[in-house]
Amino acid sequence: MTHLAANGGSPIRLQQWPAWPAPAPSALNALNEVLHSGRWAISGPYQGKQSFERRFAEAFAAYHEIAHCVPTASGTASLMVALEACGVGAGDEVIIPGLTWVANASTVAGVNAVPVPVDVDPLTLCLDPAAVERAITPRTAAIVVVHLYSAVADLDALTAIAKRHDVALIEDCAQAHGARFRGRRVGTFGAFGTFSMQHSKVLTSGEGGAVITGDGALSRRAEHLRADGRTYTAHEPAVGEMELDQTAELMGSNRCLSEFQAAVLLGQLELLDEQNERRRANAALLDDGLGALGIRPQVSSPGTTERTYYEWAGRIEDDEIGQLGVGPIASAVAAELSGAGIYTSYPPMNHNRLYRPASRSRFKAVAGLDLTGYSLPVAEDAGRRVVTVHHSALLGDESDAKDIVRAFEKVFTHHRELRG
Ligand SMILES: *Cc1c(COP(=O)(O)O)cnc(C)c1O
Repeated sequence: MTHLAANGGSPIRLQQWPAWPAPAPSALNALNEVLHSGRWAISGPYQGKQSFERRFAEAFAAYHEIAHCVPTASGTASLMVALEACGVGAGDEVIIPGLTWVANASTVAGVNAVPVPVDVDPLTLCLDPAAVERAITPRTAAIVVVHLYSAVADLDALTAIAKRHDVALIEDCAQAHGARFRGRRVGTFGAFGTFSMQHSKVLTSGEGGAVITGDGALSRRAEHLRADGRTYTAHEPAVGEMELDQTAELMGSNRCLSEFQAAVLLGQLELLDEQNERRRANAALLDDGLGALGIRPQVSSPGTTERTYYEWAGRIEDDEIGQLGVGPIASAVAAELSGAGIYTSYPPMNHNRLYRPASRSRFKAVAGLDLTGYSLPVAEDAGRRVVTVHHSALLGDESDAKDIVRAFEKVFTHHRELRG
């Protein structure tokens, strides 16, 4: 007799989940305005109006109460711009978390530096400051900290370490738009905060990104790096002229956000706080309900004053269930819930199948890019035991959160059906 939907039983829920992404009410008008504006990119001629890209940069900087924002084409682009603006390059080492999306390793290799994965804290799943301290060498040029899933990393300890060793701290906030630490938005604690606005993130335009900084000189470097060595002119151009000035202060690459993406982001940003709040309320229900089933919720570092949820994450503590591996559990729970985003954690960076520098000619001559020799026991454990719930499943109401708990409960009760 089969109970689990994964094995052909009936699912506990057929109802759809809140749609993601969902456009802001202003999106259609804004997109229409761009379509007929004569300017689809900041590298197109000036049309007598502030670009959407500039408008978004000002709104995003104001949201963070920081002086500068430079939008970019993606989160990946934002990381490369931040690293290069900080002077990171050939011969440098960059400390990254052992548990994160592949982009944190590939972007370091992408600026000709070497990623050094460091283990994470078992409770927060973010960089372990003591392990960071041990990994610092005379070649360390930067630390990239990721505020992973729903946690803020230990910024007290990490800012102190970066300062003591005189290395740049870059905060990757691709999963933490809107979170606060000691009352301040994350992304404002290091040299740069970097963001992704890719489809899955809590603020999105399909693809997109941004860096923020309080430092005017770093911001100017970032502007050049993302627009082929050009920056906005100091004076308003005539209609039909370029608004980007070829200062050539620094060679860049084209990593610009388009006007369509910026127009969408302006509307989405207005929804962010309310959506983050709704996710927080539903996440609290998962903390209680899934906690009672023996899934230990991820916690955020002391000093966190506002948490945001890109994913709800928790570790399966029961050894018998845990030994099944989190993959079959996540699939079985997803099968009960008609398409809710139930996933495994990232694999540890020493065994990440997407990280394959040897597969590209440009990396063949670089030493130190093979990360398989690192030992990352906490990240490795997370890869086997941590299950995540995507934020789109947290945008509903209390009954949706209860369905998620019921699905886990059912799969745990009948977990033996998953042993082939
Ligand atoms: C999504 C993500 C990125 C990459 O962003 P893209 O916009 O997909 O390039 C980088 N770091 C983290 C932590 C992410 O979650």
